[in-house]
Amino acid sequence: MITKGSRAMAKLDIYLFSCLSDNFGVLIHDDAAGVTASIDAPDAAAVRAALAKTGWKLTHILTTHHHADHVDGNLELKNETKCLIVGPKGEADKIPGIDIKVGGGDMYQLGSFEAKVLDTPGHTLGHISYWFPEAKVAFVGDTLFALGCGRILEGDPNMMWDSLQRLAALPPETAFYCGHEYTQANARFNLTIEPGNAALVARSKEIDALRSAGKPTLPSTIGAELATNVFLRAQSPEIQTRLAMLDEQDWKVFAEIRARKNRG
Ligand code: ZN
Ligand code: FE
Repeated sequence: MITKGSRAMAKLDIYLFSCLSDNFGVLIHDDAAGVTASIDAPDAAAVRAALAKTGWKLTHILTTHHHADHVDGNLELKNETKCLIVGPKGEADKIPGIDIKVGGGDMYQLGSFEAKVLDTPGHTLGHISYWFPEAKVAFVGDTLFALGCGRILEGDPNMMWDSLQRLAALPPETAFYCGHEYTQANARFNLTIEPGNAALVARSKEIDALRSAGKPTLPSTIGAELATNVFLRAQSPEIQTRLAMLDEQDWKVFAEIRARKNRG
């Protein structure tokens, strides 16, 4: 699947593919600049197959975090292509082959496009996301999922809530790509938390249709998540009432939702 974000002179092509059991791989390509980046490298063979299919030549890997299902392909792909590996400075020692260390507030120039780096810790302590404002797209790893969020494996709920808020503050039209296809299971869970949300009910039907047609549920947009993702909706009166947490702090409501998802 190739979608295009564009501005006057340059366009960023995006190729999304499935790999491993439920990971997404993504290639982004700036033809004019001759640049192709893999967002994470879950599996060298799958990335190689995607490069063959698109005809693009790998020049970069943009790493979001250190988990094996995001970095396992790094060294093999670097050996084959001499690509540069960009990754989180907060956990650089765990990123195989890292060349360029970046953190929140940094800007990384990829071909004609600027990537703004956002610190999004919680799933891991050094986790970062890449936002391309001109292409209106963000790559958020295992922080924000379509209708979900990553498990809080290294940080705490307060930290994860802040990271999610950083992503929620991007322009609503921003498309985002996450690390996993968990959307259908997330939708079922979301409906147990906010069943009266008509936008969520409608979206979950769309997701069922996509999945039964064997299609990916990405990209989503920040605006769609704000309307339907219960992990961003701590201020919803329906959710606060259901959880008996009226007027409780947002991050505490979020923490309770995350705890319920972990149990479910
Ligand atoms: Zn992960
Ligand atoms: Fe992952």
